[in-house]
Amino acid sequence: GYRSRAAYKLKQLDGEAELINGGDTVVDLGAAPGGWLQVATELAGEGGTVVGVDLQRIDPVDGVETIRGDMTDKETRERITDRVGEADVVVSDMAPNMTGEYSLDHARSVYLARTAFETALELLAPGGDFVAKVFEGPDTNDLRADIDEEFEYVRTIHPNASRDSSSELYMVAKGRLTAPVREGD
Ligand code: SAM
Repeated sequence: GYRSRAAYKLKQLDGEAELINGGDTVVDLGAAPGGWLQVATELAGEGGTVVGVDLQRIDPVDGVETIRGDMTDKETRERITDRVGEADVVVSDMAPNMTGEYSLDHARSVYLARTAFETALELLAPGGDFVAKVFEGPDTNDLRADIDEEFEYVRTIHPNASRDSSSELYMVAKGRLTAPVREGD
């Protein structure tokens, strides 16, 4: 079994968009408790590399490296780039602590998705894919447009496994157009 119901969302996203292939290097942001990490290691296989990052401690997953840190800290992003050369896939299921105040939850979620997007630009090889969760709202379209500029195309997918929380969707971007841009380059 998987550690989280969220695991089925990554399975569905991968099924629809063919994200993770055998041998891929995958970086998973907001990875605790680790359901997506379990699915990512299955898909990347023995020759793959999977790295998970979260504010929370992640119980060990076979074959997965974990980093505990806040993705909004530059230092955490540097720890990832130090460990991972180039990534084939960057996925983010990061979510803010929900306050129940719609506009605040939306704004915080867009901020985390933008943080994931910036991280993806530092890590993804040309042709690489990117996924980020976002709570739908007024800023979703601008985010989508910004992601679209860097990839062949971007779709929004609302997995069945998240039907109960209806405002949650995933930006799924395929085919990064250029090479990684890192600070200091
Ligand atoms: N995909 C995971 C799974 O399958 O087990 C579930 C992820 S859960 C929905 C969202 C996670 O995002 C939480 O574990 C939370 O700690 C993490 N998170 C939120 N803000 C973060 C940040 N600034 N940096 C790192 N992780 C963050």
